[in-house]
Amino acid sequence: YRARLLQLKDLPTKTKDGKQVELAANIGTPKDLAGVIKNGGEGIGLYRTEFLYMDRTSLPTEEEQFEAYKTVLEGMEGKPVVIRTLDIGGDKEIPYLNLPKEMNPFLGYRALRICLDKKEIFKTQLRALLRASVYGNLKIMYPMVSALEEVRQANEVLEEVKRELDNEGIPYSKNFEVGIMIEIPTAALISDILAKEVDFFSIGTNDLIQYSTAVDRMNQTIAHLYSPYHPGVLRMIKMVIDNGHKEGIWVGMCGEAAGELPLIPLFLGMGLDEFSMSATSILPARELISKLTLDQVKEIAEKALSLSTAAEIEQYLKSIVE
Ligand code: PEP
Ligand code: MG
Repeated sequence: YRARLLQLKDLPTKTKDGKQVELAANIGTPKDLAGVIKNGGEGIGLYRTEFLYMDRTSLPTEEEQFEAYKTVLEGMEGKPVVIRTLDIGGDKEIPYLNLPKEMNPFLGYRALRICLDKKEIFKTQLRALLRASVYGNLKIMYPMVSALEEVRQANEVLEEVKRELDNEGIPYSKNFEVGIMIEIPTAALISDILAKEVDFFSIGTNDLIQYSTAVDRMNQTIAHLYSPYHPGVLRMIKMVIDNGHKEGIWVGMCGEAAGELPLIPLFLGMGLDEFSMSATSILPARELISKLTLDQVKEIAEKALSLSTAAEIEQYLKSIVE
């Protein structure tokens, strides 16, 4: 089986009838690149930059960040690399920032909310990203967007950073994309509006499930309620893909669900353009996709969306991949 999978390593990901999609990888540090290349990743769909800020006693400098981003962009040799701006808070604490203790950290001062408030931290990261952009195919992604104003404010900071680099004569790519994660229900619900302001969406199912079903993603006691098969979650995912496509932007997914085999035919049938997963899931996903036709997956999506419970949907989709 392993040998058969490895034959797919350098091939594009296509359905049996030739529809191409991108299978990308999630990474946490430049060290993860080797695994991505070994497993035939067609890009990086999510580089979680917060690890640069964790397990240390002060903020990473612009130079340190620049080196990390450059390494990843160069290592991917022109393939797309989605780098997510700082997503701390929630379960990811950074002691040296002395952030206030909160009752509900997952609903609190975190991610883009911190970046728009502590603009110097955000600007340092954006400068490092822009400087690195000349070394590959960079796509910048903002996490935890809940409203249009946040995207506009983040883009204003980005414009400010561009002006500064222009004044200093420092080069950066003029055509990198800027996108957002869709991981908060209000963002999914206004995805028609958000799609007009950005170049792409990446659906973060880990948080989208947590926030839409009100089930803490870390809580073992209620883990049975945390499901990507929930029909409400799936309706939102479909809505986001449709709204993105109506505005002509591409839509990916970088939550764990993107690499879950039974869900892949469904998301393919909904028209998802990019799947980002842990590197070891890529080849099995590529093999599965190569056995399916577009007509088949559209039918699978229609049928799955007509069912009423997570259990029924899960059972149906699992019966297909078996
Ligand atoms: C997500 O929320 O689905 C996601 C990919 O981001 P993280 O797991 O880092 O919160
Ligand atoms: Mg998230």
